[in-house]
Amino acid sequence: MFEDINIAPALKNRLKSALDASRLSHALILEGSDEQTRINTAKAIAMHLLCKGDSKPCTVCSSCTKVRNASHPDLHILTKDEKSSMIKVDTVRDIKAKATVLPNDGDKSVFIICEAQLMNVQAQNALLKIFEEPSRHVSFILTCPSKSSLLETITSRATAYTLGEETGTFSDELSERAAQTAQELLVCFIDESELQFIKQTAVFRKDKQFFLLTLQAALPIIRDALVLASGGRVLMSDAEEAAKKLKNALTQKKLLELIEVTGKLIENTENAANHNLSITRLSAVFYSIKQKG
Ligand SMILES: [Zn+2]
Repeated sequence: MFEDINIAPALKNRLKSALDASRLSHALILEGSDEQTRINTAKAIAMHLLCKGDSKPCTVCSSCTKVRNASHPDLHILTKDEKSSMIKVDTVRDIKAKATVLPNDGDKSVFIICEAQLMNVQAQNALLKIFEEPSRHVSFILTCPSKSSLLETITSRATAYTLGEETGTFSDELSERAAQTAQELLVCFIDESELQFIKQTAVFRKDKQFFLLTLQAALPIIRDALVLASGGRVLMSDAEEAAKKLKNALTQKKLLELIEVTGKLIENTENAANHNLSITRLSAVFYSIKQKG
């Protein structure tokens, strides 16, 4: 399970050795990276904590299987209220009730609170009460983009791990690299075959964040092509050559379609456990638009 998570190997080892030595705090905060990476890491830790095998997480015992199928009676995954987009105090009170009873299956109950920054202050204060009376059989894992969005009274009672740079606050260098890659990819799309394009997308296989960043950088270039096509001059991207190529090769209708499918791909990729499907989809949808009559 740890193998599939997109976090630095050094951090993986740190987490694993803390887990192996049972040194992990009863309250963890996983911050940074993207939402999916945070939740995947939380689940991997839960699997380790609940595993009944010898080499944890064995991934094959009944506990590990139940964690994978999200059916473990001692693993509680909490997310925001569907209607309100907040984690409310009632949800936290429910945690408190569950945390006071002994685990069903083993010797631990694990609570994952996804996107804990969505807890309102009332809910965070209720959680604090639980943290103040820690029980040996209960572990908490909170995920959030940045622990700075939680009350200090919460963060001071938990151990935080930063999984990577928070999505959306990438370093300038990475943004620049993504902008450059987006240009090259779009030029390749116009000039080369689908096979060549697929080869170029191999760089994204192991890096979902970079893939997302590149897709985001491609959008203003395609929009610029549309601007040029309608006789406009003010460009949003720094990639006039790529925009010109797109404009010369594709109709305005096709450019609009490209913008639409790119937006959808970004949305799907953000929520996808496996972004490699999105990479395959990128070349398929782009080339189907290009080849349409
Ligand atoms: Zn196991």
